[in-house]
Amino acid sequence: MLALSLFVSSAVCTASPSLAFTAARAVDLETGVLRSDPVVLVDGERIVAVRYGGSVPDGVRRVDLGDVTLLPGLIDAHTHLLGTAGADGYAAMLVHQSQAKRALGGAANARKTLFAGFTTVRDVENEGSAYADVALRDAIKAGLVPGPRMLVATRAIAVIGQYYPFGVSPDLSDFPRGAQMVSGVEEARRAAREQLGNGADLLKVYADWTYPTLTVEELRAIVEEARKANRRVAAHARTSQAIRNAVTAGVTSIEHGWLADKPTLELMKREKIWLVPTVGVLEDALASAKDEAAKKRATERHAAAFAMLRNARAIGVRIATGYDAGGDDEHGHNAREIVAITGHDARLIAVVVHRLARQRSGLARAGMQPLVGYA
Ligand SMILES: [Zn+2]
Repeated sequence: MLALSLFVSSAVCTASPSLAFTAARAVDLETGVLRSDPVVLVDGERIVAVRYGGSVPDGVRRVDLGDVTLLPGLIDAHTHLLGTAGADGYAAMLVHQSQAKRALGGAANARKTLFAGFTTVRDVENEGSAYADVALRDAIKAGLVPGPRMLVATRAIAVIGQYYPFGVSPDLSDFPRGAQMVSGVEEARRAAREQLGNGADLLKVYADWTYPTLTVEELRAIVEEARKANRRVAAHARTSQAIRNAVTAGVTSIEHGWLADKPTLELMKREKIWLVPTVGVLEDALASAKDEAAKKRATERHAAAFAMLRNARAIGVRIATGYDAGGDDEHGHNAREIVAITGHDARLIAVVVHRLARQRSGLARAGMQPLVGYA
């Protein structure tokens, strides 16, 4: 499928299009169903109308894309374009890749993501690449490199000792870290202020790792600073307690949420908190498990997360799609999340794609509202 990477500014064609793309099929943005013989009329960088039936107005140049299906530009609400780790792992990425190389790797990942049909991403932390995500966002905006529209969280905020890389010798106290490590309310507040000052569109916190980490007070200070700047906070949280801490502190979205119990999901529903379940990576882990022990672990995690997802849907929690691409071989496969989250159900996939498309205009208006859901 191809993705339309331009805005649909209006269903009514008031501008003067100079170009028309035709194809075999397109997802109709109004109904979410496939329709034949679309004609996409473009004026400069904007789609000004989508019609069906195949006829192109006089004087408009036609580009026929052939036997393909056109999709609207999609949104990925959880990615890490600066995640450039290879098979040798996270610590090796920090050791062997300069910041310049990280930025160039990020640009390559941005291109892959755009060409996979995702025209907007929420980049929820840059994995130890300083502020390369801000530079990449701005370079894409300026047209220097191809990529999706980015909303960036910069460095993320975690408690000391509870984010990658793990197992580094304590003698190497200056070894680079994948997030900004803090301890205490004032350090949390300072990190938030620094990141906002350096161009963050949102903040990302690690409310837990294997156990709840940032305290409610620390989280509250971060949310408070973000709100002053009219920014939102995304919280990594898998455990119910960490989710509760984050929701109490006022975050906007919970990332993963794999172990959330029903009362916690009900709290999220009441407080209108988004869930970004990132379950595609769990399907990948199951498919690539190398031995019995790994397969057992992957199966258990998969079962727990999908049980949580079923509960979240039944309760009516707002759900958004994000693939959590964080390594070299994951970028550009963002659509796996949509397939996984819908249980490979083609009808639901169409619904999600439809809603992804409709949310786009809301994103444009709000400046920062990249989360989309399905019920
Ligand atoms: Zn992530």
